[in-house]
Amino acid sequence: MNEFVIGVDLDGVCADYTTAFRRIAAMEWDVQLESLTTEVSWDFAEWGLDRESFLELHRTSVQDHRMFRNMPAIDGVSDALWRMSDAGVWIRIVTHRLVTNWGHALIVSDTVDWLDTHSIPYRDICFLGRKPEIEADAYVEDAPHNVEALRARGNTVIVFDQPYNRHLDGLRASTWAEVETVVSELAAKKVGSFANQLPGVDAGSDRLGRNQNL
Ligand SMILES: [Mg+2]
Repeated sequence: MNEFVIGVDLDGVCADYTTAFRRIAAMEWDVQLESLTTEVSWDFAEWGLDRESFLELHRTSVQDHRMFRNMPAIDGVSDALWRMSDAGVWIRIVTHRLVTNWGHALIVSDTVDWLDTHSIPYRDICFLGRKPEIEADAYVEDAPHNVEALRARGNTVIVFDQPYNRHLDGLRASTWAEVETVVSELAAKKVGSFANQLPGVDAGSDRLGRNQNL
């Protein structure tokens, strides 16, 4: 198959989970935003959370604050994905947001609404349970346990840089421009060529809005 598929995670990769969760935590606890460090480990232990209290605040954030509808996007994600999509890369959104046993309808609808609002192009979307992988040539992922599980099964994973994954080696990107560079190289290796869009050409991230005459 002459196609390059990337599996793109949402939280911590396309969507800025830490920024959104931090704002909500500060509001809920009535503390200054600055008192909550952004140099967090995976379980947010630096904020005094354990697994149980993390899950409780996560639930409040998703259900009461509609975090999955309202969270900011990571810089440059829409333009980079549009350019890759235009170059023929198949974008498959992969998320583990349904790992909790509540709120599935709300989570799915807020997620697709957010993807439209932020003009994220995708050809399909997978809400995964336990299985770490879908069929993709490369993954962009931030969660240490997911990166390790994917790599253990022989998958190519680009680690999207976050404070909690810096102990992992291998392919890494700190920005969406860097993801684009790595994906271009991987795709060129697999399919033989990669039609990079010329710099300065309309990346088309507002295309959805234009098409809807918004
Ligand atoms: Mg993630």
